Amino acid sequence: MKFNQPAYPTVYFSENIWITCPKCTEPALVNSQPRKYSIPFPLNHQSKCTCGYCGFHQSGNDQWAGHLQGFVNQSCGHCGTKVCHSTEPTKKPYPNTKVTCETCQQTREYEIAWYRYISNKPTDPYFGFDLWLQTDVKDNVLWLYNLEHLTYLRDYVSSKLREDNSRHKYSMITNLPQWVKSSKNRDLIVKKLNKLEEEFIKRID
Ligand SMILES: [Zn+2]
Ligand SMILES: [Zn+2]
Repeated sequence: MKFNQPAYPTVYFSENIWITCPKCTEPALVNSQPRKYSIPFPLNHQSKCTCGYCGFHQSGNDQWAGHLQGFVNQSCGHCGTKVCHSTEPTKKPYPNTKVTCETCQQTREYEIAWYRYISNKPTDPYFGFDLWLQTDVKDNVLWLYNLEHLTYLRDYVSSKLREDNSRHKYSMITNLPQWVKSSKNRDLIVKKLNKLEEEFIKRID
């Protein structure tokens, strides 16, 4: 099986994040809207955490202290190929950026979607609650924001053919630690992810 999905940064998956409810420890959902073109971000931004079990609720748009990362995922205005680009992490968002299409080499301005992130913390980037989707792999912790994120990672880990040439330095896969990329751990990680997914689906059913 070949892995050839777009090079999403981790923040791409941050619209809906499952966290451990701080009140009852069941999975609760952190949702952030609007996901795209919210400039200036995060001033326009509404995040809320809702627990379907105990009713815990928190909302706010200014409780975040991490960085922003911009992401372009649109069709090239010239040839129609998918253009994927991540900006440098920043604290100050801007509306557009120039991207050169890898297929036709045309440089155009594209609108940026901004995402919040805090690097390497298994918490959500809005309220700082613990992520629900976490699992130990040997001495490491593997964490995911949601099932789409889990599926994406699992597809990558389980694929034997991985295309590395179209990736940029902020893509989620570029930033995966070596123990996740190592084929030695492939079966273990896939097993752990399957188990985590199964447990999660049981909990939210
Ligand atoms: Zn709860
Ligand atoms: Zn093009």
